[in-house]
Amino acid sequence: MGRTIDPNIHLGERYGRLVIKEYDHKDQFGRYIYKCQCDCGNTAIVAYTSMRTGHTTSCGCYNREQSSADHDSRIGKKFNMLTIIGFDHRSGKHIYYRCKCDCGNEKVIRYDSLNDGSIKSCGCLQSNRVSQKDLSHIGETWGRMTIIAFDHTDKI
Ligand SMILES: [Zn+2]
Ligand SMILES: [Zn+2]
Repeated sequence: MGRTIDPNIHLGERYGRLVIKEYDHKDQFGRYIYKCQCDCGNTAIVAYTSMRTGHTTSCGCYNREQSSADHDSRIGKKFNMLTIIGFDHRSGKHIYYRCKCDCGNEKVIRYDSLNDGSIKSCGCLQSNRVSQKDLSHIGETWGRMTIIAFDHTDKI
C-alpha cells in the first residue's frame, strides 16, 4: 500500500450527525475506524468510508427515528382534542403526524406542538368554546325576540 494517510487529519470532520473525535483502529479491510460523537449524545465506532459515502450519518438514532415502529408507538395517543392517526412526514428534526380532531376534521400537526399543548385542536376549539356557551341561550325569549340560533361573536 503506497498511500498512508495520517488518520488524525480527519478529526473534527462532521458527517451528518457524527463528528469524528478519535482515531480508533484500522480494520481488516484497511479502513480507518473512528470514534465519533453523535448529536444525540451517543458515541459510535464508524468506518471513515461509510461516513464519507453517506452510508452512516448517525450512531443509529437517525434510523431509529425514521423507523415506523417508533412512529407507530405514538399512533392513537390523544392530545387534547387531537388523536394521532398516522405518521405523515418529517422535516428536519420535526415529525409531523396526521391527527383527527374531536370535531371530525383531520389535520397534519407537528409532534412538538401536540406535546407541548400549543396546538389543541384542528382550529375549531376557539369557536367551539364560544358556540357551546352561546348555544345554551337558544330558546330564550327577550321581549318579542326569541333566540333561534347562534350567529357569531364580535370582538368584544
Ligand atoms: Zn445518535
Ligand atoms: Zn376540530
